[in-house]
Amino acid sequence: MSTRTTKSSPAAAAVATHRLPSYLDPNHLGPWGTYLQQVDRVAPYLGPLSRWVETLKRPKRALIVDVPIELDNGTIAHFEGYRVQHNVSRGPGKGGVRFHQDVTLSEVMALAAWMSVKNAAVNVPYGGAKGGIRVDPRNLTKGELERLTRRYTSEIGIIIGPNKDIPAPDVNTNEKVMAWMMDTYSMNTGATATGVVTGKPVDMGGSLGRREATGRGVFTVGSEAARQIGLPIEGARVAVQGFGNVGGIAGKLFAEAGALVVAVQDHSGGVANDKGLNVPKLLEHVAKTGGVAGFRGAESITSTEFWSCKCDIMIPAALEGQINKQNASKIKAKMVIEGANGPTTPEADDILQDKGVLVVPDVIANAGGVTVSYFEWVQDFSSFFWSEDEINQRLIKIMKDAFDGVWNTAQQHKVSLRTATFIVACTRILTARDLRGLYP
Ligand code: NAD
Repeated sequence: MSTRTTKSSPAAAAVATHRLPSYLDPNHLGPWGTYLQQVDRVAPYLGPLSRWVETLKRPKRALIVDVPIELDNGTIAHFEGYRVQHNVSRGPGKGGVRFHQDVTLSEVMALAAWMSVKNAAVNVPYGGAKGGIRVDPRNLTKGELERLTRRYTSEIGIIIGPNKDIPAPDVNTNEKVMAWMMDTYSMNTGATATGVVTGKPVDMGGSLGRREATGRGVFTVGSEAARQIGLPIEGARVAVQGFGNVGGIAGKLFAEAGALVVAVQDHSGGVANDKGLNVPKLLEHVAKTGGVAGFRGAESITSTEFWSCKCDIMIPAALEGQINKQNASKIKAKMVIEGANGPTTPEADDILQDKGVLVVPDVIANAGGVTVSYFEWVQDFSSFFWSEDEINQRLIKIMKDAFDGVWNTAQQHKVSLRTATFIVACTRILTARDLRGLYP
């Protein structure tokens, strides 16, 4: 919109100078722009519910907090933190907390929105939320990390709670961080509140199977999708980007099922072995050194070599925007299973679709983590804990059923699995929105 005005009324000038906030500008691509394009693609399939579609394009609430901490050397450092609740029509907000030097409000908004879609896709009774701190935690000592976590939890304490918004681990956060968050919230409210976060240690209200749940979900949904396109897992060549909680477990489960994990890339570099990497040994190496670089029994590869490697299944399990118009055409896989949130840009989605590559989208593929988080939250409320076998069986059933529903929707409307997942999920979200009506 032009900002130039001729002789005009104050109202006209106000309109003329009005610009969309940057986060609502679809040309301002980034994770939030990607999400907005995905919503635009689903809108034609929502029927009468499409009158509510704008709801999906606006986060309900976004909190930016200053997180000051005293470093071990006595200086004071300030970090910017966020908690965004995208939509709570179906239940309390739910979504992870990310500690990363590139975290932005736009990114957290998109991640929160994808949580709304994901939670509805697997039909757990949550809305979507996400949080993060713009920090490289590798530069902090353990004490500094604990102070950062506790101060951040206190700052967002005004909007989280077991019935309001329940954080969980994401990139660079883990059980230990969740334990500090739970303790801080409990200290501030004066009562032990195990249900305020999920992904906690099992010894303090965590659930068996939670740590492996996202990777297990990636494996379950990936296997179902492979079956649909007639690709046997045994002997399939798999490449994984990101070898942390999600990529590491998914890689391990594919290897255990007889697949060959031929290439892995993480922040430290890339490694490959045409005959298949020894995944348990690679996991040990990562646990010891912090990354895959330097792993013996593999050759090191560049990023370009990773994306163009000969494989059947590619699993991006690191960050957003990793598969983009620069590398999408080089991908040789028959199938991409999105372990990460938002790893494929809309342009890359189109390139992959034109090449006949099946993309199993994040909003269904990585929903295993939040599904077991839901089990953990239910167990915390009832103070009654289930066996790991029970958790895994329930997880696998939910993931398979959800995937089948999405697959059938895709066939029915002749759309991609991403648009199909959005159709299923956004219909659920907006049905709840419609039933609740607008307040006041
Ligand atoms: P993690 O911190 O355990 O692992 C992150 C991995 O990404 C590490 O191997 C790291 O080296 C790698 N990485 C970071 N920057 C990279 C870069 N520039 N290039 C290549 N690799 C890079 O995190 P995680 O929990 O495994 O999360 C990974 C992705 O999965 C994220 O997108 C996250 O939002 C998503 N996810 C996680 C969960 C969960 O339960 N943890 C659930 C759903 C989705």
